[in-house]
Amino acid sequence: MQTKHAADNSLLGLDRGDLLALVQEIGEPEYRAQQIQDAIYRKRVSSIDEISTLPAQMRQRLGESGYSIGLPNIQKKFISQDGTVRYLMEFSDGQSVETVWMPEGDGGEAGDGTEAGESGEGAGRAWDRATICVSSQVGCAVDCQFCLTALLGMKRNLTAGEIAGQVCAVLRDQSVSPPEDRINLVFMGMGEPFLNYDNFMKAVRLLAEEVGVASSRMTVSTAGIVPRIHDFGSEPIRPKLAISLNASNDDLRTRLMPLNRKWNLETLIAAARVFPLRNRERITFEYVLLNGVNDARGNAEEIVNLLRGVRCKVNLIALNPGPGINFSTPEAGQVSDFQEVLMKAGIPAFIRRPRGRDIFAACGQLKRTVEIATEPAP
Ligand code: SAH
Repeated sequence: MQTKHAADNSLLGLDRGDLLALVQEIGEPEYRAQQIQDAIYRKRVSSIDEISTLPAQMRQRLGESGYSIGLPNIQKKFISQDGTVRYLMEFSDGQSVETVWMPEGDGGEAGDGTEAGESGEGAGRAWDRATICVSSQVGCAVDCQFCLTALLGMKRNLTAGEIAGQVCAVLRDQSVSPPEDRINLVFMGMGEPFLNYDNFMKAVRLLAEEVGVASSRMTVSTAGIVPRIHDFGSEPIRPKLAISLNASNDDLRTRLMPLNRKWNLETLIAAARVFPLRNRERITFEYVLLNGVNDARGNAEEIVNLLRGVRCKVNLIALNPGPGINFSTPEAGQVSDFQEVLMKAGIPAFIRRPRGRDIFAACGQLKRTVEIATEPAP
């Protein structure tokens, strides 16, 4: 499938079939495709000149034909007190997104025990696993009222190469390599992955098959694009599914997430109910708690009714504040009361620790903020 945008001659984003077609087109033997593939996805080179396995003449010819690697350029890097790194990644057309590195990252699995207990890998380092939060679009069209990315509006979709390229750029910068290093991916950065479905899924396959991150270590979050949830369920290679719930009834959800008009809670939860889960897999529901808006015990009780019979867990996220967001963060006690209602009803519920709030790297704070480089936010 052609996923490039106009004037993009990036090698990143090409799968095995695409690369075979490319080498054939320029009259080179088939094994050259494998060499390019290793160089871009395993060695993660940043220029064609670095592909030392190719003869100089071929490298030159690729360059002359307008090809480049297409690794996003790390324009800026903000480092949080908690070790989180927010990258500003620039693409060839000058557009940029953010990608977040979280050592011992909260990949949405925090607290459920599935990632805990193993050690040994990564010994001698400050972390033994890390999560990369990846963006899928420049800006976002979904317009959730509590999210900073919404304020950017929708600029454009990312290509498969730009999505996978963010991961390659971070791995290169951090000098780590999956599968030896335990890397989780969460597609929870800027944008709505299910509104850029084909490019997103191609990136997933490249990351799983070429870069070496098992799809069981990936999670994608959707605001609730119901038809794509159905499509996603039948993908042979797919990440785990998270759904941004954020409200316990339709009135509230439509107010907070206008897309609820198109796909309301009934259709959303119906899609979750029929979603073909794998052995021991659960759907994650994310719930951003907004002080005095959706954080009452009554809301938690509504969720219990809504999710009855769905094999799931709930991740509770106290609002990460930001300029232009007219909601406030609930007190810790309010959040744990809410959690208690869910837990007592038998729904596993976890409180997500915010990562990199001081550098605007936490959930809902990705807005290409460059002004706060020196001044930590509250
Ligand atoms: N568009 C997708 C992927 C982004 S994931 C989606 O909506 O799921 C980002 C997660 O952060 C979502 O679960 C969203 O509900 C949450 N979020 C958005 N703004 C937030 C904020 N200000 N504070 C905390 N969480 C927020």
